[in-house]
Amino acid sequence: MNKPFMPQLVYYEPRALEYPLGKELVQKFEKLGVEIRQTTSHNQVRNIPGENELQKYRNAKSTLVIGVRKTLKFDTSKPSAEYAIPLATGCMGHCHYCYLQTTLGSKPYIRTYVNLEDIFEQANKYMEERAPDITRFEAACTSDIVGIDHLTHSLKKTIEFIGQSEYGRLRFVTKFHYVDHLLDAKHNKKTRFRFSVNAPYVIKHFEHGTSSLDQRLEAAAKVAKAGYPLGFIIAPIYIHEGWEEGYLEMFQKLSAALPAEALNDLTFELIQHRFTKPAKRVIEKNYPKTKLEMDEEKRRYKWGRYGIGKYIYEKDEEEQLKEILHRYIENYFPQAKIEYFT
Ligand code: SF4
Repeated sequence: MNKPFMPQLVYYEPRALEYPLGKELVQKFEKLGVEIRQTTSHNQVRNIPGENELQKYRNAKSTLVIGVRKTLKFDTSKPSAEYAIPLATGCMGHCHYCYLQTTLGSKPYIRTYVNLEDIFEQANKYMEERAPDITRFEAACTSDIVGIDHLTHSLKKTIEFIGQSEYGRLRFVTKFHYVDHLLDAKHNKKTRFRFSVNAPYVIKHFEHGTSSLDQRLEAAAKVAKAGYPLGFIIAPIYIHEGWEEGYLEMFQKLSAALPAEALNDLTFELIQHRFTKPAKRVIEKNYPKTKLEMDEEKRRYKWGRYGIGKYIYEKDEEEQLKEILHRYIENYFPQAKIEYFT
């Protein structure tokens, strides 16, 4: 992805104009000459152009809805944070394995919420309830927020809001390298900036429409120099031919790219590939030619919430993945903290 995201079509909810960010965004897209339509509610967003479902899906991923977040109860976000802070939903990327395909279902367009004042007020309540314990907020549960933030700056405002708080911490993860506007944010080291990284094979075959590994690593180096605590999420860890060398190559690149500033406070989160039966059906529909291996016979079934179990790697494969990736991290980044393997 060599150009920052720009929607082809924009919708706005009338109530969005009651908020400064809503007004600003509508004016911005009018000036840019992007087609913009009013809608009574995002559920009314119909007529996404396209001759068939697949085209509509693709076009929806370049449609932006400027809306108001009505539900202010935040979802929980284990294991990496207490709450998901809702800034946006949807993503312009085309990662075949992305779980948003199932969670957003028929609404894959991107929504950005402009009532930041309400969202921050709610976040303050959660922090007060837990004080003096720290409250961690995850900003990338339902979107790749960095990928759209050059347009909205709502993430930047959230970084500064949490930066001023006493008991708040913020984290998010991205596969995009458009970070320049975030470098001067007053983060006060309370935001952990994470990049999602993977072996070259996985990026090449399954992460279309995202930034390359080199671009992500260049951005990670900038972020570390700007004083942010840095992290990497390796997900999905995926077994493919030559995976051991693939992940080794990835660590070699990481090690060459990261400046000294990154090393004092560096974290890794490791998530093996998994899929559910409903997800498999959606993936095969949206990406009919995918090479993503989703053979239930080769996997171990793990019971999940709401009765929907997931298929993860067999125990011996899981142990091997864990052992090798841990070894690479210990070799290349002995000071880093491995937060979890799941
Ligand atoms: Fe999904 Fe992240 Fe890929 Fe976007 S970048 S499609 S949120 S996995």
